[in-house]
Amino acid sequence: MDTSAAKANLEKLDRQVTREEVEDAIRTLLIWVGEDPYREGLLETPKRVAKAFKEYCAGYAMDPRDVLYRTFEDAVGYEDMVVLRHIPFESMCEHHLAPIVGNAHIAYIPVGRVVGISKLARLVDGYARRLQIQERLTFEIAQAIGEVLKPKGVACIIEAEHFCMKCRGVRKNGSRLTTSHFVGAFSSDHGLRQEFYQRLRCEALPTGAY
Ligand SMILES: [Zn+2]
Repeated sequence: MDTSAAKANLEKLDRQVTREEVEDAIRTLLIWVGEDPYREGLLETPKRVAKAFKEYCAGYAMDPRDVLYRTFEDAVGYEDMVVLRHIPFESMCEHHLAPIVGNAHIAYIPVGRVVGISKLARLVDGYARRLQIQERLTFEIAQAIGEVLKPKGVACIIEAEHFCMKCRGVRKNGSRLTTSHFVGAFSSDHGLRQEFYQRLRCEALPTGAY
């Protein structure tokens, strides 16, 4: 794509898209799959889908890192690993607009500042509620914690099912993708990673998950 075409595209993106245009696009999709968008059952569908997409993609309206700025400093002296397992999330794959449903597991080693555990869950949601690939989601969560809390290290593991793989294409139901990203001490210290895996394994995770 030449520069002027790319610029024209960006200008198009900048312009406010109306709700009517989105609903028209969904009606077009309904016709494309063989439906009559004006039959009774589908009359309200474009409106519902438009609203649902705003919810699936609510993460674009925020900087997820903002939730990490309220920290507790009275945990000074706590230098052990903080682990939050099984943070459920729903995201959407950017290749097929199909759901990605899974769990994130996060660990960090604080230096003076710790964050409320609900904030970690909200951080995951902020990045998950965008069009994603799982690898980037994992990276963004770990990097955000690293940048804002400046801990000794951060680990993030995500395991998720991709509905684009479950319901279309190869249709492999039940296969799960596991991704990990390590920052600071976790990337250099094999022992720390082992401890993290051990803590994940010690409860709830199915044997052999890692
Ligand atoms: Zn996909």
